[in-house]
Amino acid sequence: MICSEQETLLEMIDLALPYTKHGKVATYIPALGEADPDTLAVSIYTTNGECYSAGNINQKFTLQSISKVITLALALMDHGEDYVFSKVGMEPTGDPFNSIAKLETLVPSKPLNPMINAGALAVTDMIAGSTVEERLGRILSFIHEMTNNTSIHYCDKVATSEYETADLNRALCYFMKQHRVVIGDVEQLLELYTKQCAIEVDCKDLAIIGYVIGNEGVNPDTKRRVIPMQIARIVKTFMVTCGMYNASGEFAIRVGIPAKSGVSGGILGAVPYGMGIGIYGPALDEKGNSIGGMKLLEGISHRFNLSIF
Ligand code: GLN
Repeated sequence: MICSEQETLLEMIDLALPYTKHGKVATYIPALGEADPDTLAVSIYTTNGECYSAGNINQKFTLQSISKVITLALALMDHGEDYVFSKVGMEPTGDPFNSIAKLETLVPSKPLNPMINAGALAVTDMIAGSTVEERLGRILSFIHEMTNNTSIHYCDKVATSEYETADLNRALCYFMKQHRVVIGDVEQLLELYTKQCAIEVDCKDLAIIGYVIGNEGVNPDTKRRVIPMQIARIVKTFMVTCGMYNASGEFAIRVGIPAKSGVSGGILGAVPYGMGIGIYGPALDEKGNSIGGMKLLEGISHRFNLSIF
């Protein structure tokens, strides 16, 4: 039986779906180019473990930049704020997510924030562990703890596709290694980063992750604190100021929900205290955000009065 919340979500998908026609799937990572641009799906996880979904919700997709939120939390747990923010800044940028420009003009060289590629690569370099496998295993276990879904793994095809074509990210890493922002081996860093970006989830997994972050780090099912409160707050704040890249300002005004997007077309939404949202719509706008997904989130925010501002 379809309940009224699900009916509302279906209506909202119908309203947002036409916008996907104005977007394009990412192709600079060749494997992502195989996605169906007309897909749009959403899951909303609310208190008492209720989860409402609509659209093609069995579709799995890779986290891509949404993983930056997770590695930031883990690096802060591994090393503390002082160390992490000695290497990565806290300020939004008006540049595209993969831009190299500010790395050269800022003195000393330091990525502006952990949500752009340069900052995320510097953060992944910090993830503790002696091998790529061990470090990736820690990222996956952390996601398993948030979602209670131990089957979450990475997609080898997408990871390899990105690793083989990641020359811009390689350039960012070498530039940062020269400036001692990156310390470890660059190829190992790229292997870990591309695998982290290729971790595969569905909308419901994302919705639970959003719930945990919005809920100051506590898993709603196990009641375990997975992320320390202060770190969950830092992560949520970066989602507001930098989560949608150089569209974050407009998104804050139109939607007002802490969120993080990825070029696979996923959007993670963390409504403080009681709601997590997972969206998938692979057709992207020119800034790399899901075009239908943003419209859908705008509709949901207005309908349920979710803006935090
Ligand atoms: N893996 C992607 C990259 O580094 C992530 C970018 C994104 O989702 N915006 O290019």
